[in-house]
Amino acid sequence: MAEILVLGAGLNGLVTATLLAHDGHSVTILERDQAAPGNDAQNVWQRWQRPGVNQFRQLHFMLPRWRALMQHELRAVLDQVIALGGARVNVFDELPRDLTGGRRDGDDRFDTVTARRPILEAAAAAVAQRTHGVSIRRGVTVTGLLTGRSLVGAAPHVTGVVIDGGAVLRADLVVDATGRRSPIAAMVESAGGRRPHEEREDSGFVYYARHFRSTDGSRPAALGTLLQHFDSLSILTLPCDNDTWGVGFITSARDKQLRGLRDTSAWMAALRLYPTAAHWGEGEPITDVQVIAGIEDRYRRFVVDGEPVVTGLVAVGDAWACTNPSLGRGASIGMLHACALRDLLRDVSPDQPEKLVRRFDEITESTVTPLYRMTLAFDRHRLNEIAADVTGQTYRTSDAGWAMTKALYAAAQHDPDVLRAYMSVVSMLSTPQEALAAPGLVGKVLTLGANAPQYPVPGPNRAELLSAIVAAG
Ligand SMILES: Cc1cc2nc3c(=O)[nH]c(=O)nc-3n(C[C@H](O)[C@H](O)[C@H](O)COP(=O)(O)OP(=O)(O)OC[C@H]3O[C@@H](n4cnc5c(N)ncnc54)[C@H](O)[C@@H]3O)c2cc1C
Repeated sequence: MAEILVLGAGLNGLVTATLLAHDGHSVTILERDQAAPGNDAQNVWQRWQRPGVNQFRQLHFMLPRWRALMQHELRAVLDQVIALGGARVNVFDELPRDLTGGRRDGDDRFDTVTARRPILEAAAAAVAQRTHGVSIRRGVTVTGLLTGRSLVGAAPHVTGVVIDGGAVLRADLVVDATGRRSPIAAMVESAGGRRPHEEREDSGFVYYARHFRSTDGSRPAALGTLLQHFDSLSILTLPCDNDTWGVGFITSARDKQLRGLRDTSAWMAALRLYPTAAHWGEGEPITDVQVIAGIEDRYRRFVVDGEPVVTGLVAVGDAWACTNPSLGRGASIGMLHACALRDLLRDVSPDQPEKLVRRFDEITESTVTPLYRMTLAFDRHRLNEIAADVTGQTYRTSDAGWAMTKALYAAAQHDPDVLRAYMSVVSMLSTPQEALAAPGLVGKVLTLGANAPQYPVPGPNRAELLSAIVAAG
């Protein structure tokens, strides 16, 4: 069994370390930020300082795929989220019956367990902390890589890390889980290696989000899906733990006129315009409007032109790839990636470093890269669509995939079978091809969705939205 260092105790670093320790590896997690101050949801939410995770108090929802993976692989994390007040949610219990057609056999695949991000992370940390074979060292910043003799051409072979203060920690394998701002590419270069392949650009989106608490112990009824699209923006309405919930507007960071949504009164006035979302603003606010922009899409590969650029090191979760998060896939993709690494280490040990890096690259490409690419494609189209809204035009593209995505969303508002297909795609339970494979389903989607209005859920047009923001601000 191997000595493994996991860099970063975020959502994915914690579950990766726990999975690896369950297989008998000895795992040390290095995390620059301090632990949660106490283990109750209130303290965790209000007092945990996490400068290492920009999105720490932003909207989060755990998809049914994440719940299914956790139930199979790390049941204790789900139990801990629930113990901290996490919400059990199934959209087919939440949505109106005229949308769902009532609960059906098989709908339990849409079950999930979710919470505000700090509570989710506290749960994963508590489970890691009590897992035999995991040790978490907090307040430790990794500043560089320790390398030994190269084993593949000139690629540095990582044998450990350097931490602040200059001490070194050795390991058989280093797993980078330092998140979307991971410094690992620069560290590989500083160690004399070729820079990993990297694709990065600003995703172009901005989030204006708030969290609320119930005043009567119930959460708002869902009148639409969790993510709804409208002229110029999308809206997320997300159930969370302890009778709290999050609501957010997602739009183009270039849209200066919508920057008024930073203002609480303007934000509330805007929300009131959307019949399927307005009532999510009727709780006790527990945050002001929290804004996050400059969210990068970034993807890395450590095998370049067929050759590893580094050995002894792999990256998981956001440190490998991250996108605009409105589809809420980061933790689910991270968990899939962590399981893939755990499984690979059952076959290939870190003392076969070249094979390990090559095989992990192949497995990453076949399991999680397609999800990254699909998410990116959705985001690009949606951002272009919003850009067209801003200029009063209709977005046109020759990509038949986008037309089908739009038709599926529109048809899901009218047909319970299509709604289930749509939900299985957005829950990451099926690919679009799998979801639409049932006989007659594509026909229904085209009949109900192909000529639907661009935005099938009622909401204001751009002029009405801007005027409400200006009037309130
Ligand atoms: C606005 C927003 C909303 C999101 N909503 C959702 C959602 O609804 N559902 C979902 O599944 N995902 C969502 N995500 C994505 C999700 O937050 C990430 O996928 C997830 O946090 C990634 O976990 P991670 O462990 O890979 O990285 P992180 O959680 O970013 O953790 C990285 C850790 O590494 C530490 N670190 C960094 N550098 C060093 C260093 N040099 N030394 C030591 N430690 C270091 C950091 O302090 C941090 O703790 C959202 C993201 C954003 C931006």
